[in-house]
Amino acid sequence: CGVYGVFSRTEDVSGLTYLGLYALQHRGQESAGIAITDGAWMDVTRGMGLVNEVFRHQVPHMENQCIAIGHVRYSTTGSSLLCNTQPLMVNYSGGKIALAHNGNLTNAAEIRHELEEQGTIFQTSIDSEVFVNLIARSRAETVEEKIIESLKKIRGAYCLAIMTEDKLIGARDPQGFRPLCLGKTEEGSYILSSESCGLDVAGAEFVRDIAPGEMVVIDDSGVKSYPFAMNEKKASCIFEYIYFARPDSVIDGQSVHDARFMMGRVLAREAKFKGDIVISVPDSGTTAATGYAYESGIPFVEGLIKNRYIGRTFIQPTQKKRDTSVKLKLNAIRSVVAGKSVIMVDDSIVRGTTSGKIVNMLKQAGAKEVHMCISSPPIGYPCYYGIDTSVRKELIAATKSVEEIREFIGADSLHFISLEGLKSCVSEVNADDMCYACFNSAYPIADGEKPAGDSKY
Ligand code: 5GP
Ligand code: SF4
Ligand code: MG
Repeated sequence: CGVYGVFSRTEDVSGLTYLGLYALQHRGQESAGIAITDGAWMDVTRGMGLVNEVFRHQVPHMENQCIAIGHVRYSTTGSSLLCNTQPLMVNYSGGKIALAHNGNLTNAAEIRHELEEQGTIFQTSIDSEVFVNLIARSRAETVEEKIIESLKKIRGAYCLAIMTEDKLIGARDPQGFRPLCLGKTEEGSYILSSESCGLDVAGAEFVRDIAPGEMVVIDDSGVKSYPFAMNEKKASCIFEYIYFARPDSVIDGQSVHDARFMMGRVLAREAKFKGDIVISVPDSGTTAATGYAYESGIPFVEGLIKNRYIGRTFIQPTQKKRDTSVKLKLNAIRSVVAGKSVIMVDDSIVRGTTSGKIVNMLKQAGAKEVHMCISSPPIGYPCYYGIDTSVRKELIAATKSVEEIREFIGADSLHFISLEGLKSCVSEVNADDMCYACFNSAYPIADGEKPAGDSKY
């Protein structure tokens, strides 16, 4: 998912939020929503689909609006339904609150169960609803204290954009799994965004990343920082750099593009495949493919063309939808690949659906050999922190060796980047402060190993 928030007395907060969500669209395409306030009223508009579909007719607006938050959703917990869209909005004894969440919680089912025993009513099937219920029930005096008290009970991955009638609040979980940053416009408006590309589109300057275990509160007096859990082991998600984030974003000081380009260079050093051309599986494999070409001296060319009018296939929630979308999404250029030994670079193999179909497509277009290079190690374990690779039996690397995967997808050779090689690509961050659990099962949170099925969560 992606979250966004704007605090401003002069600029169009909902308009900026719309732009920000548009820039964060790659983080989720199932639903979108914007909540706004003018200091007294609060209103939320949510719908299924892309940002420009949900707000086709109009972007929500209020006279004197001063805060807005927004969300784009990619479902990992809770089904793809209108009732599960965000931001969530509630009225409670202390006023109104709206909340947008990116990440997956690992103890939400327990908390929900406890709260339900005590009579709390839940209206959605998403884990994020425990935040608003805990905040609403807190006896602490200020809203800042209520939120911190709630965050201390919750484990797992969360980046939050929260709005009260007069405050915009951001928070990042103690491990810092997902990204969240702060920006400021020339007019002095403050912006929270999952990724820095969301600041660029609003004309805002990057101020800083929100630290893992930090909450920031923005109001008329400026920005205040509330560290609530700064001493836990950090574990930001390596997959943001491999696949999820946009290459033009910078997360925790590390350019996503530069990390991805480096992954391609490392792949070229490790795989040493000789071929006539390097191609990518667009768009997610492209940056790494250019790195492979740079390091190996083999030319990068466009061998596959992507239909621009389709979203990310993986993000289609069901397998059947994913299957049909591959052909619609990609096609080979015969004149480029025919008779060639092709090195094809992609970011990951999850279920193996895409790769098998593309290898076949290239061979049908006359490719002599297809050597596949993957800029992540084999994904052998599920993610419980917000990337949709949560069902172990669907992961091809959970049950097959590299050689068996090669055979399954029909490639002439197959190389996955090594974990050590991958770690060397994020040179601007401490590689030990990152999560690699889907590759090595070293889950940063002890209760992370609970299956994140779709029943209640
Ligand atoms: P597969 O076909 O092996 O199941 O999926 C791999 C392809 O899906 C890659 O090209 C990758 O870019 C894409 N993909 C889309 N969404 C995701 C995601 O959330 N996680 C991962 N690992 N890959 C994804
Ligand atoms: Fe990221 Fe993998 Fe860790 Fe999930 S398990 S947070 S995808 S590194
Ligand atoms: Mg891809």
